[in-house]
Parts: sequence; structure tokens; C-alpha cells
Amino acid sequence: MVKRRSIEVHCGCGKLLARYSKGGKGRLVKMFFERILVDACGVFLTEPAPALHQELFCPQCQKRIATVQVIRGKFAAKLNQGAIVQP
Ligand SMILES: [Zn+2]
Repeated sequence: MVKRRSIEVHCGCGKLLARYSKGGKGRLVKMFFERILVDACGVFLTEPAPALHQELFCPQCQKRIATVQVIRGKFAAKLNQGAIVQP
């Protein structure tokens, strides 16, 4: 079992985007949708779910925060490193 911790992911504008269950060390590069604990702005866990290659935007500053990709067979939000602030 991989050790995981809950982290907060903010946009550069300060908006809380998500709380995520992160495994491993190092920078957060992607967020698997199934491990997003809190979708603070309703950007990620939408109904219907975001489509592959769809771009996701911060609802506050309209910056592109992520692009939807399939990583190891699972849907994930590949984060735009320039737009994200993480602990
Ligand atoms: Zn923002």
C-alpha cells in the first residue's frame, strides 16, 4: 500500500481548486480523478465527466489549470505547472 497524504491544490490566483490524495514524493504533476477528495470549484468531478484532452480552467481567473489525459489507463488532470500552487 502506497502511503498517501491529502494536499491542497491552489490556483496561482489563490483559489482553492482541490484537495487531493497524493502518493509518493515530489511535485504534483497530475491528479487522477478517482483520488480527488474535494473538488472545491466543481471543475474536475463534473457530470458528465470532462472529456479526454479537454482543458480545465480556473473559475476565478480563467487561467488554464489542467488538461484531461489518460495516464496508466486512468483519467487524470495533467496540471499546468505555471498556473498551480502546491504545498
Ligand atoms: Zn485562478
